Amino acid sequence: MPSTAQVLVIAGTDSSGGAGLVRDVEVITELGARASCVVTAVTAQTNSCVEASCALSPELVRQQLRTALRSNAIRAIKIGMLGTGEIVRAVLDELPDRREIPIVVDPVLCSTSAAALLDPEGLQLLRDQLLPRCSLMTPNLIEAGALLGEHVARTSSEQAGQARALLRFGSEGVLLKGGHGTDAESVDVLVNHAGPLVLLRAPRLDVTMRGTGCALSSAIAALMASGEPMESACQRAKSYVHDKLLTLRPAS
Ligand code: PLP
Repeated sequence: MPSTAQVLVIAGTDSSGGAGLVRDVEVITELGARASCVVTAVTAQTNSCVEASCALSPELVRQQLRTALRSNAIRAIKIGMLGTGEIVRAVLDELPDRREIPIVVDPVLCSTSAAALLDPEGLQLLRDQLLPRCSLMTPNLIEAGALLGEHVARTSSEQAGQARALLRFGSEGVLLKGGHGTDAESVDVLVNHAGPLVLLRAPRLDVTMRGTGCALSSAIAALMASGEPMESACQRAKSYVHDKLLTLRPAS
């Protein structure tokens, strides 16, 4: 019998359980894959603020990654909060080639409550050295603006332009999420170097859930771990997160 696909998550913890590693593992398990993990940072959070954040030692991160990668069941890697430049460096040292294992990077820069989750050196290393080694990056509109040094896209044509511009950082694909927009639909833009732009649409729901970015990138990684191509993994992951949000709506 084939073993269950395993997704290696490299991420921080959120004591409230809303975002970060707890959300990642929940999603990966719900989608029928198994999770293993490399913890990068521990945060003390409520739904409205980050009270404390402590990055683990780069050596411990390196060692977790080395031991986790000894499992030959890992079929995809999802990278979330990295915290510091030293940790980005440790991850870069140990990360396999994306031709061996699909690597999905959610470029976590700050929380919804606006606390920084990556230091300035980390941002530079992520942009210059980590993104060129990943299969797919999944920024939101705010992260895209910060990575490009531009204002946050306000229209769908600016969103599409920024998605294409982000490809120059070297990932195979870019999924620029529109969840932080205000239109009636939440539209995510998927681009890669070969094909045309793909728009993934879902009605915008009047509910909020912490860790939707974590959930989407983990769902994509879980689906790619089972061999699903990038585009359909993104489509199915978006529907999965939409359905999860629907369950939070009060019954009418
Ligand atoms: N905390 C951790 C550990 C995270 O990984 C993330 C996002 O990836 C966040 C907080 C941010 O989540 P939210 O935007 O829901 O505050």
